[in-house]
Amino acid sequence: MEGALPDSDALREILERIDGRGYRAYRDIRGSFDFSGARLYVDHVQSDPFAAPSKLRLRIPMERAGLPAELFGDRVRRLALADFLARHIRTAIREDVPHSTGTGKSGRVSIDAGGQEVLERCAVKLDPEWVEARLSVGLPASGRRARGREAAQLLCRILPAAVERGLLWTELPHDEARDFVHCVENQEALRRELGERGLVAFVANDSILPRKSGDSDLPLHGQAAVAFQSPPSLEVELSLPNPVRSGKEPPASTVRGMGIPRGVTLIVGGGYHGKSTLLQALERGIHPHVPGDGREGVVSASQLAKIRAEDGRAVTGVDISPFIGDLPGPGESRDTHCFSSQDASGSTSQAATIAEALEAGAEGLLLDEDTCATNFMVRDDRMQALVANENEPITPFVDRVRELFETRGVSTVLVMGGSGAYFEAADRVIAMHDYRAEDVTEAAHAIARAQPTTRTPTACETMRPAAARKPDPRSLDPSRGRRDVKVDARGCERIAFGTSEIDLRGLEQIFDPSQARAIALALVRIRQHAQETPSSLSEILDAIESAVDAQGLETLDPFGSRGEHPGSLARPRRIEIAAALNRLRSLRLR
Ligand code: ADP
Ligand code: MG
Repeated sequence: MEGALPDSDALREILERIDGRGYRAYRDIRGSFDFSGARLYVDHVQSDPFAAPSKLRLRIPMERAGLPAELFGDRVRRLALADFLARHIRTAIREDVPHSTGTGKSGRVSIDAGGQEVLERCAVKLDPEWVEARLSVGLPASGRRARGREAAQLLCRILPAAVERGLLWTELPHDEARDFVHCVENQEALRRELGERGLVAFVANDSILPRKSGDSDLPLHGQAAVAFQSPPSLEVELSLPNPVRSGKEPPASTVRGMGIPRGVTLIVGGGYHGKSTLLQALERGIHPHVPGDGREGVVSASQLAKIRAEDGRAVTGVDISPFIGDLPGPGESRDTHCFSSQDASGSTSQAATIAEALEAGAEGLLLDEDTCATNFMVRDDRMQALVANENEPITPFVDRVRELFETRGVSTVLVMGGSGAYFEAADRVIAMHDYRAEDVTEAAHAIARAQPTTRTPTACETMRPAAARKPDPRSLDPSRGRRDVKVDARGCERIAFGTSEIDLRGLEQIFDPSQARAIALALVRIRQHAQETPSSLSEILDAIESAVDAQGLETLDPFGSRGEHPGSLARPRRIEIAAALNRLRSLRLR
C-alpha cells in the first residue's frame, strides 16, 4: 500500500486529542489509515451516540491474508468463503470486543453475518488483491462527549485484532473452511442437477427438517428429531462434486433422497405429522444452508414461490381472471382482468399473489392449507348444489393446478390434509405419518377411481398469459422530508419507502433483514428504470438481476452515494423484489 496515508499512530493521536470533546469531533477521523498490514477506512461517522452506528472497513492485502485462491475461484465459492469469513469475524468480535459502559451504541461492533441460510451478501468482500470486512461501530461516548481514548483502544488495537482473527488464513480452522465451501458448492450443484433430472426439489435421506422452536431456525436435536427417509419409489441418487464424509464410512460422492418431480405433488397426512415442516424445508431450500443445519441436503429449484392468502393487502392492476370472474360491486360488476384493491380478500389476494409470482418468473408454487383461503382451494359438490356455479366468481385452484403445469410448465407442491379434492390432479401423493414420508399415490388414485367426485369442474376458459404490467414511476416515491431517497427495512417484516410502509409479513421467503434492505434499494432502482424507459416489470427485474450479477449487490447502493459502505445487504430473489413492489399501496401502472 502507498505510504502517504496517515497511519494508526495518527488515528490514535486524533482520538486522544478529541477525548472529552463534543461527539461531533469524531468527524475528524473520516478517511483512511494505514495500519501495519491492513488499512482502516472510516466511511461514515455517526452524528450522535444513539444514531445508526458508524461505518468502517478493514482491508487486508490477499498476500497477507493468505486465503487459498481455490476457495474463492468462482462465484459460488467466493460467496461461500465470504459468508464463512463473516461468521468467523462475528464470533471473534463477540469474544474480543469488551462491553462498553458508554452511552447509546457505545462500543457496539457488528458485522452483517447471516443465519442458517448462506446468501450472497456484502459483509465481506473478496478481491484477488485484498479481502475486506465491512463493520458497524458505535463510537464510544459519555453522554454527548467522545470517549476518544476508549475509541483509540478499540479502533487501533482491539478491532483490527478481532477482524484479523476471523480473516487471516493462519488463524482460521482450515478443514472447517474447506468443508463449508464444499458444502455450499454441493448444494448449488444439486440445484443444477434438479433441472437436469426433471425435479423441483430434493430432500436427502437423514436430513433433519424440524426446528428447535417456532421462533428458532436452529435444528431440533436429539432423539425427538426424526431424520428424513425417502419412500423407496421416490428415491433418487444425485452426484456431488465434493465427496461427503459421514461417520466411519468412506466419503461418498453421491447422495440419496427423495426427488420431487415436476408436476403436481400433494402432501397429505394427519395433523401434527410433519407436513408443514416438510414444506417449510422446501421453501427454504431455495438457498444453501450452513453445515450442521440439517437441511444441507434439502435443495429446491431456485424459483419456487410460496403462495398464501393475505387478506387486507393491496393489489394493483393484476389479471386474476383465471381464478376469479366478475366480482359483485356497487352498481356494476367488477372486471377482474385488471384487478385493484386496497383491501383484498383471502381468495383475491391469493389469486393475485399467484399471478404476480408467475409474472416474476416462478417455476413452481408451494402452498400449505394452513395459510390458504379455503374457498380458493376447493368447492365441493354440496356447495355447488347450494350455490350454483354461475353465482360463484371463483374458479378454485383445483381446477387450474394441472393446467398450470401442462400449459405453463409451473409445478405445484401442495399440503392438503383436509380434503381429497386434489387426488385426481396430483401426479403423486406423499403421506407424512409420524414424521415419515410414504408414497401413497396409488392408493389415492384408486380412491379417486372408486369414489369419483361428484363436483363439476368449473367451466372456464383456458388461462392466457397476462398482459405485461408497466409500473408508473410517479407512483414510486422514495422521498421523505428533505431526503430524495429515504428507504429502509425493519427486520424482515416491513420496508419504509419514502413516506409509505410496505408490509412484508406475507412473504415467507425473505429470511434475512438484509434481504429486506436490499429489496428497499431495488425498489428505488425499479423507479429509475421506469423513468428511463416504459418497461414491463419483468424486463425491469431482468435488468436489475443482470446489474447485480455483473457488478455485485453493491450496485443497489452505489458505493459512495452516501459515503457509506453497503455492508449490510443480502441478495433477494426477483420474486420477492416484485412481491414487495406489488404490496406498495401507492403503486400505479402506466
Ligand atoms: P402438520 O403440518 O402435519 O400439522 P407440522 O409440520 O406443523 O405438522 O409439525 C408438527 C410438529 O411436529 C412441529 O412442532 C414440528 O416441529 C414437529 N416435527 C415435524 N417434523 C418432525 C420430525 N421429523 N421429527 C420431530 N418432530 C417433527
Ligand atoms: Mg400444517
